[in-house]
Parts: sequence; C-alpha cells; structure tokens
Amino acid sequence: MADHTDAFQDNALLISSELGPLSSAPVPGNVTVEQGFLRGPQKWHAIAISVVPAIGTAAAIWLAIEYGMTATDIWLVLVMYAITMLGISVGYHRHFSHRSFKAVTPVRVALAIAGSMAAQGSVSYWVANHRRHHQYTDRPGDIHSPYWDDEKQLKTVEGFWHSHMGWTFGHRMTNTVTFAKDIYRDPAIAMANKLYYVWVIAGLVVPAIIGGLVSMSWYGALTGFLWGGLVRMFLCYHFTNGIDSVTHIFGRRPFRTNDYSTNNAIWALPTMGEGWHNNHHAFPSSAVFGFTWWQVDFGAWLLWGLKKFGLVWGMNIATPDLIEAKKKSGAAA
Ligand SMILES: [Zn+2]
Ligand SMILES: [Zn+2]
Repeated sequence: MADHTDAFQDNALLISSELGPLSSAPVPGNVTVEQGFLRGPQKWHAIAISVVPAIGTAAAIWLAIEYGMTATDIWLVLVMYAITMLGISVGYHRHFSHRSFKAVTPVRVALAIAGSMAAQGSVSYWVANHRRHHQYTDRPGDIHSPYWDDEKQLKTVEGFWHSHMGWTFGHRMTNTVTFAKDIYRDPAIAMANKLYYVWVIAGLVVPAIIGGLVSMSWYGALTGFLWGGLVRMFLCYHFTNGIDSVTHIFGRRPFRTNDYSTNNAIWALPTMGEGWHNNHHAFPSSAVFGFTWWQVDFGAWLLWGLKKFGLVWGMNIATPDLIEAKKKSGAAA
C-alpha cells in the first residue's frame, strides 16, 4: 500500500466518473417511504428555508446600509448563530445521529431545541437522512451526494447544486422508522421532536423580543428578528449544507475512506469543527472531529467544557494510534 500521503488529493480535479457504485446491490426498499401526504409539507419546508432567510438577509443588509447596525444586532446574530450551529453539530450530528457521547437529559433536550432552531428539519428527519448518508456515502442511495442523484451520475455543477440544496426539494423521504427509531423511543427527545415548529418559531421570536427590549423600539425588534433570526438561519443553512457539498468536493483527504469526504480548514471554523469531514467519515463515532491541535473544533471544546461539569460523559474519541494506523493502512471506513 502506498504511503498515506498519496491519498491527499486536491480534488477540484476529481471527476464524478471516478466513483462507481461500491456495491452492485440495489438500495433496499425500506430506505425510503412512499411520500403521499408528506410530499407537500416537505416541498414547502424546503422552499421556505431556502427562500425566506435569503429575503430576510437581503432586507437586513439593506436596512444596515440605510440606517446602520446596532451592537445588539451584531451580538444577536453571533450568539444565535453559535447556539444553532452547535445544536446542529454537537446535537443533531454528534449526539443524535452518531451517539458519540452521553449527556444528561436537560443538555440533550437543549441540543435538540438548539438544532431545531436552524429549521433544517426535526431531529428524526435530520438523523435519518444523515445515517442514510453514511450508509451510502457518495453512492446511489446517498441522499445528498455531489456525485449521485439516486441512480443518476452527476456532473460538477449539477452535483454541487444537488448536494447543497437541490436534494431538499424533491428527494424521496428517508424512512425514519428504518433509520431513526431510537429518536421515537426516547421520550424527552420524541417530545422535542414533535414540537419542532415551536422551536423554529422561538428561534425567530426570541431575538426579536431581545432586540425590542434592548432598544425599547419596534425597529429594534425588527432588526433583532432579521439578524438573530433570518440572517442567522441563512448562514447556518448554507454552512451546514456545505458539509454535504463543499466538504465532499473541495479539500484534502488524509484518510482513504470509501467516499469523497474532505478536510477543509476554512469550512471547519464556521461549522464548529464539521469541516474536518474526512476525519469524520474515517471515524464516524468519534465525538471529536479535529485530530490535531491546529484542527480547530469548537464543537469538541463545548463537549470538553460540559464534561468538566459532569454534564457529558462517555465521549468516543479516536486515539492517536488508531488514527495513525488508519492513515497507514489506507483502510476504508
Ligand atoms: Zn459526509
Ligand atoms: Zn456523520
């Protein structure tokens, strides 16, 4: 086996035809469900999350240029962004999808609520799609690969569009009973899951209330709603979706996983460590995504902090030995 450095690829050069199906086995029928009544809500949810925050962001920028921006608006967008992105990364992804650490119930519920405020779907919906992504990564059956849309192989631009946003509009619904049964069996999380839309609305109303109270004006409530609500949602949506598009196309691959996942330092910062996505596909159950001191992983920092207070325990962590062995062996995930 060649030295692992051979596996580093500056993959803007990659072409999708390099990646054939790893298995000729057809995707089993229980992966997706007949959509029926789900088709309407799915489509409207996808349109709303892609269009409404974008309009809100344009309005916020226009108002900022015309009338300026307050410190409250800046704090609201930063803090609300950090809360929701950590909800997605640490909650939806590391905890609920991969069970990579254990936590007390209030922390788990808080993570479910914070993730829900991103408006990327309920816990069960997100977890099911994500587990399906790991099962079929960059092969037919993967819900948001830049290389495949069901059985159809994708070219560069349409692949980027499909993996970033396109899949949300018309994908076949992932069977949550096949992929996320544990979410329904977990009473506190099942309840948080059911109240998904309440959390989405709370994520818009709370910054509006704070903006209004701090400025004691309706205008402050409006800009609080825009910056802490819609702009924050817009940023979170595109940085999260970039994990499916950008970090499956652009970046480096220290591990020879059976997919095109990459490590991308630029993407890792705003995604709380998610940009170390090749690391993640090599060790999906590791709670820590950054494997060296310079691989900044804010999600892991939060976990270390919570662990100090006894709120989190049982973190799965890929040890340096395992990491080295995997690099040397070039073993697939
Ligand atoms: Zn991935
Ligand atoms: Zn994952």
